[in-house]
Amino acid sequence: MAWPYFLDCDRFFASKEEGCYDPLAGLKGKTSHCSSLLRLSCPEPSVPPPARQELALSSLSPEEPSTIIQFTYTSNAQMYSLLKRTAAKCSSIAHVYSIGRSTEGRDLLVIEFSNNPGQHELLEPEIKLVGNMHGNEVLGRQLLIYLAQYLCSEYNLGNQRIQTIVNTTRIHILASMNPDGYELAASEGHLLNGWTNGRANAQNIDLNRNFPDLTSIFYRNRRSRHYRIDHIPIPDSYWFGKVAPETYAVMKWIRSLPFVQSASLHGGELVISYPFDFSRHPQEERMFSPTPDELVPSVLTDPLSTRRSSSSWLAPTRTWFSRMSDFNYLHTNCLEITVELGCDKFPSEAELYPEWKRNKEALLSFMEYQVHRGIKGVVTDTEGNGIKGASVSVRGVRKDVTTAEDGDYWRLLNPGTHILTATAKGYSRVSKRVHLPRTMNKAGRVDFVLEKVWFLFRIERQEKPWWWNYFSQSGISPPQWLLRSV
Ligand SMILES: [Zn+2]
Repeated sequence: MAWPYFLDCDRFFASKEEGCYDPLAGLKGKTSHCSSLLRLSCPEPSVPPPARQELALSSLSPEEPSTIIQFTYTSNAQMYSLLKRTAAKCSSIAHVYSIGRSTEGRDLLVIEFSNNPGQHELLEPEIKLVGNMHGNEVLGRQLLIYLAQYLCSEYNLGNQRIQTIVNTTRIHILASMNPDGYELAASEGHLLNGWTNGRANAQNIDLNRNFPDLTSIFYRNRRSRHYRIDHIPIPDSYWFGKVAPETYAVMKWIRSLPFVQSASLHGGELVISYPFDFSRHPQEERMFSPTPDELVPSVLTDPLSTRRSSSSWLAPTRTWFSRMSDFNYLHTNCLEITVELGCDKFPSEAELYPEWKRNKEALLSFMEYQVHRGIKGVVTDTEGNGIKGASVSVRGVRKDVTTAEDGDYWRLLNPGTHILTATAKGYSRVSKRVHLPRTMNKAGRVDFVLEKVWFLFRIERQEKPWWWNYFSQSGISPPQWLLRSV
């Protein structure tokens, strides 16, 4: 019989009545992972002395209930309620919001963690974690639900590492991008769910194939001189096709916040991939398809690979197919990796706890390490006002990043010497040479101050309006003076 749930004795307090049962305890041999304090709250073969037990329990404030993670599957209704309760428990650092609804009207609910929830803070990077895009790939969804509870609980318990992560990063977690698909897969369950039932949304659309294909546009144009590959617009033809409400909601979300990096959790394989997932040759999906940022993903994945003992995100590859990741990369500043967590898309309930243990460290280091690498800064005018939409480019890399609302930007970069240039319409360009040492453990700050350029000069450089050709072709000189109001 599978246990209905069990507790993570290593990390959480359990009340005396509930006890703390860890079915893996026997397998761990003599090494217990429980910290000395936490161990006191778990019934163990040798009962701790009563005096010490009281000490441990009295350190819990009476209004702070013990945190319990139930390592079971969570229905959609349970997930919504759990995330809302978690946000309520940690209202100073968390809140929930919906980015839209699925085809069958279920909320696409995001839980956000930040020391200032609900708003972007200058220079604080934003990241997102997305699970369950394929409704029958359920492990990522569960891991993200546990992660939300873990962040909340550990923050409240005073875990320094978690407090630093939450205080320095704005984290958005969409545990289920496809709750309709999950509903179908979950109705079959672990034993009966096949390889494909519930993968697509309720309209039978594979959400990962439903994002605009910007990669083909890039490959078509990449040989043109000066062609930049950032912020490629969505082609009009895309809107003639069927756009799933889930895809639309996520695209809107991706465009609305200045995400720096992202992870999309899948199942069915054990690999990590990053843009371009869509290969250069459509017939040859496994062909190596480098991005202009080819060096950067090594920054992203290295820490995971070097922590092999505690991470299961081990095998970076570029051969998987994720149009969502490519969309993030080609349409916005965000670099998204696709994580395939394991071969079993719908593991048994007994696997959930070991899987959490295997992936927890990778999830935490993804949030704390990579996003604080490279450089960040603010692009302002001479009066100190942030310039929105300014480009920051790196010599030798055809992908620029743009500044957010207040002029702040983030650029994942490998150690070494780089020439950076900031430009914005109507302003002078400014270049800087920066050196990032190998030993750097946080993002270097590089600010730019741009001067407004002379008005008439700006007109010359501007693109001509649509009516310009009409005058030119009829032999009349176009009314230059009209440009002044542009
Ligand atoms: Zn998948």
